Amino acid sequence: MGSEQPESSAALVLFSGGQDSTTCLAWALSRFDRVETIGFDYGQRHGVELECRLTVLDRLRREFPAWAPALGADHRIDLTVLGQISETALTSQAEITMNRDGLPNTFVPGRNILFLTMAAAVAYRRGIRHLVGGMCETDFSGYPDCRDDTVKAVQVALNLGMDRRFVVDTPLMWLDKAETWALAEQLGGPELVTLIVEDSHTCYYGDRSHRHAWGYGCGQCPACALRARGFEGWLAGR
Ligand code: ZN
Repeated sequence: MGSEQPESSAALVLFSGGQDSTTCLAWALSRFDRVETIGFDYGQRHGVELECRLTVLDRLRREFPAWAPALGADHRIDLTVLGQISETALTSQAEITMNRDGLPNTFVPGRNILFLTMAAAVAYRRGIRHLVGGMCETDFSGYPDCRDDTVKAVQVALNLGMDRRFVVDTPLMWLDKAETWALAEQLGGPELVTLIVEDSHTCYYGDRSHRHAWGYGCGQCPACALRARGFEGWLAGR
């Protein structure tokens, strides 16, 4: 407590098991000496993401010897309380559609603000300075809590409220999905691209039965469409 400040060489990655957060985890492992991960169970209607995240962590430990020594504890936080305060397609059986305000009905209001706050509380306890998240302003999903200004405002609020100098790193903020694939290749070579294709999960419907060049998914939902288009754009631009 008091004036003791957290370690600058340590990072806590918000890691869901998706393409973006897997790329962020690789980004952190290539920069920091100690990297821990945090995942949130908020009553997702399928457990696929949470299974995928364990597979990705396991493969990073076994197949990436340069990164494995830095990869530390994984924190799994129960946020099923979100199901009590929001009615959305990710936590109920509803169809995924676009609302009139242009946001998909998968939107849990302010979810990333809550996630960052939870992550900062864990980082405080673990003596970690950097929080790393896959928030991105470039893709069309339009989540207002993924915007750069929101993230910066949350960083300020956390630092004031916890009397720390946390840094919220968002390496994907200004990248499109094609550039995110390119970043993965740059960080971890074709091995990391293969791991992301095979074991990261993006599909809103939790579909692991249809295999495409870009990975598993229904191929139809907005998340699959975005991932597929990014992958094709990356291949076309190489
Ligand atoms: Zn899908």
